[in-house]
Amino acid sequence: MSARVLVVDDILANRKLLQAKLSHEYFEVITASNGQEAVDMAREQHPDIILLDVMMPVMDGFEACEILKSTQSTQHIPVVMVTALGDRDHRLKGLTAGADDFLTKPVDDFALLSRIRALTKYKLVMDELRSREASGRRIGVIEGDDAKGPIDPARILIIDDNDRQARRIALALKQEHRPLLWSEARGMAAKEKSGIDLIVLSLDAKTFDPLRLCAHFKSQQSTRDLPVLIVADFEEEAKGLRALDLGASDIIMRPIDTEELSARVRTQVRKKRYLDTMRRRLDESMELAITDQLTGLYNRRHMMKQLGQFLQRANAGGPPVSVFIADIDHFKRVNDTYGHDVGDEVLKEFSERMKENVRPADIACRQGGEEFVVIMPETAGDMASVVAERLRRDVAGQTFRVDRGRQQLDVTVSLGVATSSGDATTIDDLLKRADEALYEAKEKGRNQVRSCAA
Ligand code: GH3
Ligand code: MG
Ligand code: MG
Repeated sequence: MSARVLVVDDILANRKLLQAKLSHEYFEVITASNGQEAVDMAREQHPDIILLDVMMPVMDGFEACEILKSTQSTQHIPVVMVTALGDRDHRLKGLTAGADDFLTKPVDDFALLSRIRALTKYKLVMDELRSREASGRRIGVIEGDDAKGPIDPARILIIDDNDRQARRIALALKQEHRPLLWSEARGMAAKEKSGIDLIVLSLDAKTFDPLRLCAHFKSQQSTRDLPVLIVADFEEEAKGLRALDLGASDIIMRPIDTEELSARVRTQVRKKRYLDTMRRRLDESMELAITDQLTGLYNRRHMMKQLGQFLQRANAGGPPVSVFIADIDHFKRVNDTYGHDVGDEVLKEFSERMKENVRPADIACRQGGEEFVVIMPETAGDMASVVAERLRRDVAGQTFRVDRGRQQLDVTVSLGVATSSGDATTIDDLLKRADEALYEAKEKGRNQVRSCAA
């Protein structure tokens, strides 16, 4: 997985060195020699990752980071601060300025590539979600993505079989968050355990293999999206990098600096919540694109698409597909007598009864107005008529309560059934036959099911 990296350093030799290392691993590299240049280049060239030196003329790394993270077009580009070894204040200041990670000089090859890989992975997921969302529905910036400032308390699961160590981490996180020890979580019901925002996993566990556990979390559907923050000793660096490769999001070295811990936790939780929001919005917008607003049934577009797919299978020798069209009888009278709003209520109630009376695999759609279509995959005509008749009876059998229960209406529906036949049934064909059957049902006095022979 390659990426375009912007390397920012005021010293030419440093730029050349990083460029050489990254090019060697097939990353594309662009360079800038101070903060201002970095901000300009990021705006114009949209790199995937920025490696940002701290001490630079014109504009230092902190200021550049703050600008990048507060500018809409650049705030999602991961920033790695490159600080002098052991310069704790700089690291903390960088994380506070919104940096996603930091590396210490002289930059260790292994650390450099692992960090870049982990951040590239995150950025790819983000870019994908953002572009899918953008093509579905245009929305503004998501609230709460402010890189600075406090966040809502997070549920953090601490996994460490050294109880003293685990409690120390919990204590450090307690002021801002709701830590949960693995030993406590085991006895808990699944419901209480849900809602976890972050896992803190210690690499020096003796009673289980932490790398295997990390891989397990990353392979399970239910925990895949949970960020994992690794706690490692200095001599465990290689193991820590392996954890990053397995999908862990970040790593912190012992002895744990509590401020660094809380800054890293905050960054991870913020990212997770941001991704969750993006995913939820994407689900919603996809849902919106296929449902009818008034009734919550599938819309016509979705119906056509689904029907096309089932017909294709039926025509290729698969099981038959049936449909029925349902049209409410004398619906115009409801509108004329009680008003359009009551008419809408009838449509909603009718849709509820449709959902209750079709089978789980059937696809109930509102074709438009007071006309509905149900697609019944793998269903022959006689069975389809049974389903249609059940709906007819349910509608006619119980009055519709509308206008907050003030009115009771007798509603009936006519239905036309049709089934795919042979190997060349088209959507138009099938719907036309169902429509003809419906017309016959209306003709013969309404409140009945008719089916059209192929
Ligand atoms: P038939 O028994 O022959 O089907 O008679 P009908 O009155 O049901 O059929 P017609 O096609 O003459 O009238 C359908 C009415 O449905 C006319 C239209 O104003 C109304 N309608 C269509 N869409 C909506 C809607 O979304 N809400 C409401 N309240 N009425 C709608
Ligand atoms: Mg009609
Ligand atoms: Mg009608």
